[in-house]
Amino acid sequence: MAKHFIPIASGKGGVGKSTVSVNLALALTRLGARVGLMDADVYGPSIPTMLGLTAQPGVDAQRRLTPLTVHGLQVISMGLLMKPGEATIWRGPMLHKTMEQFLKGVAWGDLDYLLVDLPPGTGDVQLSLCQLISITGAVIVSTPQDVALNVAQRAIAMFAKVKAPVLGIVENMSYYLCPHCGQREEIFGSGGARQTAEQLHVPFLGEIPLITAIRETSDAGTPLVVAAPDSVGTQAFVAIAEELVRQVHQQAGAGALAPTEISRTNASHIKIVWQDGHESMYPARELRLQCPCAGCVDEMTGHVRLVATSVPADVQPVKMDVAGRYGVAIVWSDGHRTGIYAFDRLRAMCPCKACEVRR
Ligand code: ADP
Repeated sequence: MAKHFIPIASGKGGVGKSTVSVNLALALTRLGARVGLMDADVYGPSIPTMLGLTAQPGVDAQRRLTPLTVHGLQVISMGLLMKPGEATIWRGPMLHKTMEQFLKGVAWGDLDYLLVDLPPGTGDVQLSLCQLISITGAVIVSTPQDVALNVAQRAIAMFAKVKAPVLGIVENMSYYLCPHCGQREEIFGSGGARQTAEQLHVPFLGEIPLITAIRETSDAGTPLVVAAPDSVGTQAFVAIAEELVRQVHQQAGAGALAPTEISRTNASHIKIVWQDGHESMYPARELRLQCPCAGCVDEMTGHVRLVATSVPADVQPVKMDVAGRYGVAIVWSDGHRTGIYAFDRLRAMCPCKACEVRR
């Protein structure tokens, strides 16, 4: 199985999600990683075309599908299993079954990364995936335009809802790169995704220019990263792959910091035992006052909106759950339920003497 599951999502179609998935997967392969690409865009599986694949996957002795290998990349797609021109009407349970089959019924072997090209939008496949596996983090692809960014924000919100971390945003078609003179033209006004990433506290992974060769190479079945390994476009994909690897390791680090126990010792304190054995005891009301959610803290300025006198003296947690791999979601007795406290922040807030001295 794969060490890291990374869905690639976009709020809407046509932003280049599949193009980015394929080239990013190949760029990761180029960095020496073992990579699989699962085309879960069951409505319009375009990955086989982009990789020039026409053969059908085989079946191994354990009756598992064997992925096709191309340019060192392992690939499975609904497009490889459907007859050309065959249209399928997908309903929720069928999608869930297909996701399950693609994840568990495929002989993926030992992979470092399994990239999953999701259908556009925020529907059933995304939810199925989050229920079936523990996602390392999602990558969101957007173009620089406002409208595309707004839908990207919806995709980010959807992953937050199912407590799956977001590894970062890729801005595709950032600017036009003239193939003749190499001049950069900001046709959509680039930088929008970077700003959105900053506003939403999500890492920005990098930008891909609009280059005719990206479309031409995809259409011809040999993506740019393989067809033109030294091109500017390939360099952009490799830089994003490197940043992605960095973010994955950070996420894994966040996982290593995860609590092994979260409990209430008494009415006024919350106890967290960390993986390294350290114990933190937080006064409940203090933690409530430190809520990092957008309702309590202005995301842009960091200004605290929460009025301390509005929080009852005896406020207590009524529910505490680990949120994905990065934080603790707390529902409070005053009805507040939108705060997710990141592990690293919680650990930094540990009120014990030893931690205080270190600060
Ligand atoms: P999505 O998966 O989001 O629907 P695709 O990856 O199918 O989008 O891309 C849509 C079209 O845009 C394709 O024709 C593709 O070749 C083209 N395309 C994507 N990214 C770029 C880019 N950076 N430069 C030029 N063409 C691109």
